[in-house]
Amino acid sequence: MSNKPTNKIQDLQYFGEFGGVNPSISDSATYTFLHAKTMLDTFEGHAEGCYLYSRHSSPSNLYLSEALAAMEFTETANVAASGMGAITSVFLQMCGAGDHIISGRTIYGGTYAFMKNFAPKFNISTSFVDITSLEKVEAAITPNTKMIYCELESNPLLEIANLPELAKIAKKHHIKLVVDNTFTPLIFSAQKLGADVTIHSLTKFINGTNDTVGGVVCGSQEFIDSLRNVNDGAAMLLGPVMDSLRAASILKNLRTLHIRMKKHSENALYLADNFEKDGLKIVYPGLKSHKDHELFKSMYNKEYGFGGIMTVDVGTLEKANELMELMQNENLGYLAVSLGFYKTLFSAPGTSTSSEIPVDEQKKMGLSNGIVRMSVGLDNDIERTYRAMRKCMKQVGVL
Ligand code: PLP
Repeated sequence: MSNKPTNKIQDLQYFGEFGGVNPSISDSATYTFLHAKTMLDTFEGHAEGCYLYSRHSSPSNLYLSEALAAMEFTETANVAASGMGAITSVFLQMCGAGDHIISGRTIYGGTYAFMKNFAPKFNISTSFVDITSLEKVEAAITPNTKMIYCELESNPLLEIANLPELAKIAKKHHIKLVVDNTFTPLIFSAQKLGADVTIHSLTKFINGTNDTVGGVVCGSQEFIDSLRNVNDGAAMLLGPVMDSLRAASILKNLRTLHIRMKKHSENALYLADNFEKDGLKIVYPGLKSHKDHELFKSMYNKEYGFGGIMTVDVGTLEKANELMELMQNENLGYLAVSLGFYKTLFSAPGTSTSSEIPVDEQKKMGLSNGIVRMSVGLDNDIERTYRAMRKCMKQVGVL
């Protein structure tokens, strides 16, 4: 079996019903049974290859799930209607009243808001810690801790989690390590680095076309079965189900992910490197100046590079807004949240994707108002883009 994530995706062979080169799209919410007994067996999870109802599973969703499990080297996976649908199902499956989560403090604002504001309704508490400090992580563990949660590359500070060391801590204390790998698909194989469960928002790089939201949970057969259990599975009972038509289209896009990731990484490295040489305050894990550069290199699948996300700190929110508006007017990208698009996307995280995090906490974690996060696009001529962006930087006075 292949040891490379892209090969593993490509080794999967599915034919459509009539020999199509893409699997047929399942267009049914419910499924017939020739024998009543098989229906009962399917309810109880003992009828391999049979489908019951599309909130539980459907052929199209299984094709996509299997491809994502292959990519993440996990036994299986379950796709969801959004990244948040995947994340919240995992939290609510793993934790009950009285349980405790340790989470990285620099994470996507929606995930932060769920743990901080919503999970307490179920008496689930969270300690937000600096995930790059292994001592702080271990010190936060209580007898009720059920999981350590982190983003492998954090949003938006681009800190890198030391997964092998976090996995050791998790194992020692018999708790699970749950990792959001949204920023770095293919680049990191989280399960190989010690994660128990790997989550993605498919909305970003994996789908890459910004036409839908989607999510996935990759893990052991046992855990994914528990998520889908008809009696007490969070995915089954909360119902964040992806539609089959979307699953089919995301699967087709997944097949070009390796080419796109290489190009995103190549372009981001070029911009980061040149803007740093120009004297700008750049954070990008591909730069030697990034504090986790060596750690990144010790964990990554080299051929996909250092990813497509970089940040530039231009000092103030006013300057950040001015720069983003100008770059949009010059057609260098879009002033929009999200990432992984063919076009560069930029936003100021403090007032957008991280706005759920209170301002004093943003300050503590080093999230300044002048930070612009860029998801670097697939520009064919990045030198031309660099020159045009540089002109904008000069025009607003940050260069
Ligand atoms: N995880 C990360 C790292 C994200 O950036 C996001 C969205 O921005 C999510 C999860 C949530 O995903 P979705 O918007 O697909 O629900």
